[in-house]
Amino acid sequence: MIDFAAISKLELHLHLEGGVPAAFLRRMAQEKGMDVSRLFNEEGEYFYKDFLSFLSIYESLTEVSQTPEDYARLTRQMLEQSAANGVIYTETFVCPVHCCANDVGAWKEVSEAMREEAAAAERELGITMRVIVSCLRHHGPDMVRAAARCAAETAGDFIVGFGMSGDEARGKFRDFAYAYDMAREAELGLTVHSGEWGPPRMIRDAVETLRVSRLGPAARAAEDPAVVTFLREQGIVIEACPTAGVATGLFSDLSEHPVEILRQSGLKLTISTDDPAYFGSSMATEYEALHRTFGWDEQIFAQITQTALDAAFCDGVTKEKLAKRLETAS
Ligand SMILES: [Zn+2]
Repeated sequence: MIDFAAISKLELHLHLEGGVPAAFLRRMAQEKGMDVSRLFNEEGEYFYKDFLSFLSIYESLTEVSQTPEDYARLTRQMLEQSAANGVIYTETFVCPVHCCANDVGAWKEVSEAMREEAAAAERELGITMRVIVSCLRHHGPDMVRAAARCAAETAGDFIVGFGMSGDEARGKFRDFAYAYDMAREAELGLTVHSGEWGPPRMIRDAVETLRVSRLGPAARAAEDPAVVTFLREQGIVIEACPTAGVATGLFSDLSEHPVEILRQSGLKLTISTDDPAYFGSSMATEYEALHRTFGWDEQIFAQITQTALDAAFCDGVTKEKLAKRLETAS
């Protein structure tokens, strides 16, 4: 029997607030005298019905955390959860629009508070965190550009990437190309959400227009063999989030999810949880479900981990340290 929590893992696709347990966020709202009860179900868990209501609830709850101290606390909560599930490295999406309306000065304070908390957690829990500054495409190109400015102004060894999520039905990729150019000039790694709800042709468009090296969750790529071939030839890394695809109703069951088809087609594949606190998942349950459904074994998990290490946006020194930890763990 495999101990899935004990396997050392790298996670490249996790949204900060989505990694924070509902009980903690309810407590934080209570401390501030905010009534957010409508956003939780009877069991006290995050309450959503479909993908769009998930986005809406998620955004509403970001109003609870505003100050640098709040973000340090969220960081700690998320890192404790991840570390308990064997994650030794996490790249976490954080949206400056949520904490500080994309104000660069305020964002610097928030990111510094997160960096300090992450450094403490690294010493105490053995998990390394890096941040991908993120934005929401349904906020429109101006807001996306403002987020890219925050990312460019804080790019370095902690802020390592830029990404965009949100409602794929809104806006064209070319509307966001300028923001991605800014992030690229700041030497940030680039990723984008695509192929989650949008059709496969949008995945190709995302790669060609925004020139990203990674994209996720991208499950719908499997619908079009030409897109799969394109992604393989371009060496694009997929940040697959299998449980998230089921939890948001895109697939009825994990066995319907094309993650195994994508893996067998030779794509560079990584596995992440996306928003585990919303989906009742963790990296350990993700691995366990993939083992149970598709028979994935330790050898396949080791391949996935190596792909994630190669594709991580952190610097070479950090990668070497992680590689050493993986070596001693195996
Ligand atoms: Zn995501």
